[in-house]
Amino acid sequence: MKVLGIETSCDETAAAIVESDGEGPGRVLSNVVLSQLDDHRPYGGVVPEIAARAHLQHLDGLVRQALDQAGLGLAGLDGVAATAGPGLIGGVMVGVMTAKAICAVTRLPFMAVNHLEGHALTARLTHGVSFPFLLLLVSGGHCQLLAVEGVGRYRRLGTTIDDAVGEAFDKSAKIMGLGYPGGPLMEKAAAGATDPGRFDLPVPMKGRPDCDFSFSGLKTAVRRHVEMLGGTLGDADRADLAASFHKAVGDSLIDRCTRAMKLFKQDFPTGGTLVVAGGVAANQVLRGRLTDLCRRRGFDCVAPPMGLCTDNGAMIAWAGLERLRLGLTDGPDFAPRPRWPLDPTAKAAPFAGV
Ligand code: ATP
Ligand code: MG
Ligand code: FE
Repeated sequence: MKVLGIETSCDETAAAIVESDGEGPGRVLSNVVLSQLDDHRPYGGVVPEIAARAHLQHLDGLVRQALDQAGLGLAGLDGVAATAGPGLIGGVMVGVMTAKAICAVTRLPFMAVNHLEGHALTARLTHGVSFPFLLLLVSGGHCQLLAVEGVGRYRRLGTTIDDAVGEAFDKSAKIMGLGYPGGPLMEKAAAGATDPGRFDLPVPMKGRPDCDFSFSGLKTAVRRHVEMLGGTLGDADRADLAASFHKAVGDSLIDRCTRAMKLFKQDFPTGGTLVVAGGVAANQVLRGRLTDLCRRRGFDCVAPPMGLCTDNGAMIAWAGLERLRLGLTDGPDFAPRPRWPLDPTAKAAPFAGV
């Protein structure tokens, strides 16, 4: 079974084709991603209108490239999937309309994919992880812990009550004068630290009797340290502050995941896998700390390769493929959803955009 996946929910225009013969991991036949970073960099963040126009301009060509690289024509596909939310609605509409148009002319089935389900199921594409598993979803717009019991079956154990963790990386990097996008630049800066314990930053939510997160206080603490240093930072200050930031984020994630692991074990006592997904899962320092936690707690730790952590078409193609083989297809009237929580019973958090 081969599925084309289209991703346009933020600032990456992406198309990919994945294949599966049955159970176990799938195969990525092609995976093309066009980042719009340069278009948005002058504004220090993603501008929705610019993003939507860029998707419109480039998507056709990327779909053609994805087909060429896989050596396939549209007739070789079994279905077409597109991110139908959550995300910037102008971009989501471009992807959904393109997928629906291909399906209208080819009569292929269409799958409307939740972008977060794409992040969530990537570890099944790459590692064949079986259900149930514990998911730490750490991305630009989300920070959640979920028990994943099957395709479309998510139980939320915790979420951020304010900023997402990727957002905290991006905003703190901006405050520190590191530029955009913040995550990778913070990681690079931290690698040069000589005194990673120099700055005393709070560990958000540590010890709280739930699995929620909070990152806006950490960002404020970073701002305070920058102000105390007189507003401008030297390279050594930046490196140490970035390392202290990593330590605080890591401590918070470890504390929250430890609680979630206990809850998960109550429901599923045998075995256990922690899947780390979303753009922040590309961070090697945090991956290392979570791997270490899993070793101590008897969990397997799985994180997709870095290129499949940040937004891409393969994750959408795979989620579409998983839905297709369960008969979960969608009609041409499916309306894109700017907000779309994975757990249908979840109340949207105030600012997290779930
Ligand atoms: P969402 O998936 O919640 O809708 P999004 O699609 O914008 O949001 P992703 O593309 O999954 O988010 O991830 C982007 C985020 O990941 C950004 O906040 C970015 O700073 C962060 N990120 C990317 N690489 C790293 C890294 N090496 N370390 C820390 N954060 C990173
Ligand atoms: Mg992005
Ligand atoms: Fe994403």
